[in-house]
Amino acid sequence: MRNVKRTAIYPGNFDPITFGHIDIVRRAKKLFERLTIAVVAHPHRKNLFTAEERVRITEQALEEVGISCVRVISYDGLLIDLARQHQVEAIVRGLRANSDFDYEFQMALTNRDLAPDIETVFFMTAGEYSFLASSSVNEVKMLGGDVSRFVPPSVEQALAKKFGLENEPTS
Ligand code: ADP
Repeated sequence: MRNVKRTAIYPGNFDPITFGHIDIVRRAKKLFERLTIAVVAHPHRKNLFTAEERVRITEQALEEVGISCVRVISYDGLLIDLARQHQVEAIVRGLRANSDFDYEFQMALTNRDLAPDIETVFFMTAGEYSFLASSSVNEVKMLGGDVSRFVPPSVEQALAKKFGLENEPTS
């Protein structure tokens, strides 16, 4: 009998985490006993939130939606090195629409070339989140719109703070 726990890592920008990411986490948790979210901290990439902020916002959001036992870390470097370090069997990614496919396909094949023993596993988004991207949430919030259908309240608060909108009502 197998006594090794199934482990996976879910890498991404999470700038910030949305209900789309959370949906993937819920699905992945059904298959993997240990799941780690790895927030990419590449200094050359322009993100709205720092890596430390994204880790904290992600942790808070998961707690708020009642998801426990998911570790959140940040990393800078080669994903495969991190996967080996954490001894994971799989890399989790989400697929929204066709537009994600080419990039994800290329990344998965590159990672397979580097580490043939680590599988990339794709989870298809729930239809209602198939259009949802952190960048559009950020844009809507920056313009004063309501993003409560896209992110948990703590994330919306973090966005309001970032954009200096804390005291303004959402439209
Ligand atoms: P984004 O493109 O929104 O900046 P990330 O880099 O944070 O996304 O994405 C990390 C992973 O989560 C990627 O595999 C991405 O396809 C997936 N993902 C992001 N948003 C969604 C969503 N709404 N539904 C399903 N998967 C998603």
